[in-house]
Amino acid sequence: MLPQSVTCPAPAEQYSAHVNPQWVRLLEVLQMNVSYERCEGAELFTTGGRRILDFLSGYCVLNTGHNHPRIVAALRDELDRSGPAMLQSHVPENAGVLAERLCRSAALPGSGASLNKVFFCSSGSEGVETAIKFARARTGRSGLLCAEGAFHGLTCGALSLMRDPYWRDGFGPMLPDTDAVPFGEIEPLAKKLATKRFAAYIVEPIQAEGGVRIPPDGYLEKAQELCRRYGTLFVLDEVQTGMYRTGRFLAAHRFGVAPDMVILAKALSGGLVPVGAVLMTDAVYDSVYDSFKRAIVHTSTYSENGLSMRAGLAALDVLETENLGDRGDRLGDLLRQQLREKLSGFEMVKEIRGAGMLSGIEFRAPRALRLRVPFEAFRRIHEGMFGQVLVMRLFRDHNILTQICGNNFMVLKVAPPLMVTEAQMTEFVDAIHEVLDLVHGSNLVWNEALGLARRALNL
Ligand code: PMP
Repeated sequence: MLPQSVTCPAPAEQYSAHVNPQWVRLLEVLQMNVSYERCEGAELFTTGGRRILDFLSGYCVLNTGHNHPRIVAALRDELDRSGPAMLQSHVPENAGVLAERLCRSAALPGSGASLNKVFFCSSGSEGVETAIKFARARTGRSGLLCAEGAFHGLTCGALSLMRDPYWRDGFGPMLPDTDAVPFGEIEPLAKKLATKRFAAYIVEPIQAEGGVRIPPDGYLEKAQELCRRYGTLFVLDEVQTGMYRTGRFLAAHRFGVAPDMVILAKALSGGLVPVGAVLMTDAVYDSVYDSFKRAIVHTSTYSENGLSMRAGLAALDVLETENLGDRGDRLGDLLRQQLREKLSGFEMVKEIRGAGMLSGIEFRAPRALRLRVPFEAFRRIHEGMFGQVLVMRLFRDHNILTQICGNNFMVLKVAPPLMVTEAQMTEFVDAIHEVLDLVHGSNLVWNEALGLARRALNL
């Protein structure tokens, strides 16, 4: 016990003092700094008695919802058995079981070489780093090609495959020999690949942070064909789109493509322990572990740890037995249909799009002068400000957690857990309708928003 004279700082103060004060200030400005007592399925319960709907899912981590009882039970069981959670001197059998199930789920009938090997790691970024190294080892080339607008992670290699200066500035130099092409355009891609400089084209099948951007029909198939023609590995970053987020196990299945490598993370552990996995063909794997003496040439301390592997197996069980892919596919279509019906009359709503339970609402600058003047004033302060006002209003006034896309501030991401109910979806649709109604109809919102912008700038 502490002596009475010693007062303990509030946890948020400790966090500010020792972790990230700017994050706390940002949450304060957005009026989102609440403390959570309990999280279950798609619902969050605060200490203040609020019930908040999660339509963000930790950026596509919580496909199975918060604290799914089967995943929690599997983790408890793993702890209770006091097994070798972290030994690094044995064969972690569950890693084999999970790898086999991931490879089976990833299979694309009728395609060429199958994804038959898995490297486990602890995050999406680490998965991307792995893909970079393995692609270079397999091809003997150093070049790496990515798509503009991509988000691949913030470690130096992954960051080298992102173009937005917000993420990169001050952290250079980045990896040499990287280049980017516009997402969804075949001609520039064909030109770059024809140089035969590139080990891999690393691309998200649907750009999540880029604005829930869906490639034009046939783009990924053509990209794959070009990669094969020019000896470049076709690598899909499915860190957000994988694990049934877009209806199928992989978005690759939606588009009928068979990549040489697939990167998974986020939802693979049900949101409870860190995990990442890179699925690849035997040929790619063998180019790295090509001899007895190279058995540990690429490893990571926590990569096959007992808790992550058990969580992965339990998350797969839940996704499969509860049929969450099909459910998300069906309800995702319904959600977009409802959003289109309710929001199509608003001039600032440009498009509603998505696949499975990954949707985006894209906004555009208003034409009406009455709205255009405050909108432009806003944009001059910060490009993301308009979207953050929507996020703040949804949270504060309607108890719904959302976010705008990290690389496209005019798109609101809509990605609830896959077990979201129709009633919860209706709650969201009604809430965003009300917020947009206010934005289009009242100066009050804009004035309040300018206040928000000023507060943010004074920080
Ligand atoms: N790839 C994609 C598509 C992502 O969205 C992210 C994270 N948002 C990453 C990679 C990086 O994952 P992590 O934060 O686990 O390193």
